[in-house]
Amino acid sequence: MEGLDYCLLCPRNCGVNRNAGATGYCGCDSGFHIASVCIHQGEEPPISGAKGICNVFFTGCNLQCLYCQNYQISCRRNRSRDPEYTLDEITRQIITLLDQGIEAVGFVSPTHFTPHVRTIIHELHKSGYTPTTVYNSNGYDKAEIMKGLEGLIDVYLPDFKYFNPTLAMKYSGARDYPEHAREALREMFRQKGSTVVLNGSGQAVTGLIIRHLVLPGQANDSIRILKWIAEELSPSVSISLMSQYYPTPGVARHPQLGRKISEAEYHKVLDAMEAMGFHKGWIQDFESSGNYRPDFEREHPFET
Ligand code: SF4
Repeated sequence: MEGLDYCLLCPRNCGVNRNAGATGYCGCDSGFHIASVCIHQGEEPPISGAKGICNVFFTGCNLQCLYCQNYQISCRRNRSRDPEYTLDEITRQIITLLDQGIEAVGFVSPTHFTPHVRTIIHELHKSGYTPTTVYNSNGYDKAEIMKGLEGLIDVYLPDFKYFNPTLAMKYSGARDYPEHAREALREMFRQKGSTVVLNGSGQAVTGLIIRHLVLPGQANDSIRILKWIAEELSPSVSISLMSQYYPTPGVARHPQLGRKISEAEYHKVLDAMEAMGFHKGWIQDFESSGNYRPDFEREHPFET
């Protein structure tokens, strides 16, 4: 796979030969390690659309957040033993869903698999399918890699998790997360601007939506993130402000991460967002934390 002989795909810059089976921080070699290809209806309305989006959930992750809400598939331990698919198998699974009328394909946790994302999209095009493509990442991306995706990705759906480098180090082992996320977001914004274009059925066909998950005790960091977006990009950017944080088993006893956020914390961030002039995007019902817990042990992770 191109670019994996000496992997510098993400800011971790491991330099390992994934084509030879080596694994870096993300825990993945060069195979198509995918936990699930399924229809997901729980994304933001213009991402899911009326019928849902075909999400391709890659395993492993280049961040490894302590509190990861998808820990079942992202934790790097034993990633090389994950089920590995061929390109043909993955493409056929996606096409099966597209043939049911699904119009968009979302690549979830794609940062450490960007060559695979390109290959899958090219394969779909060769087969005559041109779905809307969504890049759904944690934001720990390199701007130069994002440049290389121009023309292939229709909708960027990145997180912006931390503004404070110390917090990024503490929770995700990535002190440089904020600087790389800012540069990646600048590049996504250069490509897409602040307008999310919808098709006739209300599904996004091009644009940028920035997600932010409010963490317990970190409302001020959330507000710094929003301030940067408003000042350096635009208050017209669409924001998805999420309240769904819940403590996963790994952080159930953590002194800060071992609780949900409070209503007051979420409203503090919401009020600041409104005062900064943001006017496009989505917020969550405060009691949403129970509704967003996928179980990747199940065939259909988002159905109970
Ligand atoms: S993609 Fe994985 S192996 Fe490559 S630099 Fe990032 S963490 Fe390291």
